Amino acid sequence: MKKHNFSAGPSILPQSVFEKASQAVLDLDGMGLSILEISHRSKEFISIMERARALALELAGLTDKGYKALFLQGGASLQFYASALNLLQHKGAYIDTGTWAHKALTEAQFVGDIEVIASSKDNGYRNIPTTYNIPKDADYLHITTNNTIYGTEYFKYPETNIPLIADMSSDIFSKEMPFEKFALIYAGAQKNIGCAGTTLVIIREDILGKVERKIPTHLNYQIHIKNESMANTPPTFGVYTSLLTMEWIKEQGGIKAIEKKNIQKASALYQEIDRNSLFKGYATPEDRSRMNVVFNLTDESLSERFNNLCNEANISGIKGHRSIGGYRASIYNAMPLESVEVLIEVMKHFEKTA
Ligand SMILES: *Cc1c(COP(=O)(O)O)cnc(C)c1O
Repeated sequence: MKKHNFSAGPSILPQSVFEKASQAVLDLDGMGLSILEISHRSKEFISIMERARALALELAGLTDKGYKALFLQGGASLQFYASALNLLQHKGAYIDTGTWAHKALTEAQFVGDIEVIASSKDNGYRNIPTTYNIPKDADYLHITTNNTIYGTEYFKYPETNIPLIADMSSDIFSKEMPFEKFALIYAGAQKNIGCAGTTLVIIREDILGKVERKIPTHLNYQIHIKNESMANTPPTFGVYTSLLTMEWIKEQGGIKAIEKKNIQKASALYQEIDRNSLFKGYATPEDRSRMNVVFNLTDESLSERFNNLCNEANISGIKGHRSIGGYRASIYNAMPLESVEVLIEVMKHFEKTA
């Protein structure tokens, strides 16, 4: 029986994507060849890559606005470094809202000077800071739009004239966003876009070519753009799965329709956490993530019982990140409301029978 998968990433994908991707492993569109064995230079794969790049821009509303989309390797984690390498000349400004945000600024320090203009670290990363000064001499401001581990999310973005860059790994395409406010966006595919193995990078081209340093070939955005995301063998299956998932988003009615469902799922779950005497939410209510719902038991000694009830209900992957413990229900785009309702039922039953 298929489980209710609340894993933080790699994570649930739409059932239709699992089916189409499986079929393509056996025979891609009646070619008599598997997606895993065709050349990335074949016309079939070039078409997949081109459609995936175009659809990423279309979903973001960035078609014909000076942006390019790439599907690269090395995960969002390599983009922490690559973004600084391509953009940091004098100084990078960073807002530290969690583990990933902190890793981003740590990697940038291999490139040059950075300034952390705000941090919610002292508060256990429970909130998104709202007061800070953005230095005028910074080359860019980097934010992490959704904090996958602590369960906080931006709903308003910093206003600035310097290029805004964002790690959107865990909330991209989950809600309408002012994508045109961002000069660089990157996202590991394995949360809302597809399977592990590729990273979507969307860049406004005019910000490139301004640093003096020499940039190694495969970390150089301009080279990837020039080679249409095929500077070397791309992660073909990851790109194909991303295309299928983005097509699914479009079929659902686009980001607007997806957002509506995401609000429904998250509100239902937070409502239960707030109502149920045995649970408490982790993040400050106004900054609660709609993608990663982080919560704790009010009495830790009951954890074994709750874990058992979850197992019996076929719930998988809600254990909190090893760094903070507790629970985390990741309810990305592909998570059906019905699975969230199963979890809520378990929480209610747990309270009644405690
Ligand atoms: C998962 C995640 C990452 C790490 O992505 P990798 O592709 O594993 O490098 C980075 N940032 C955020 C916000 C994430 O959720």
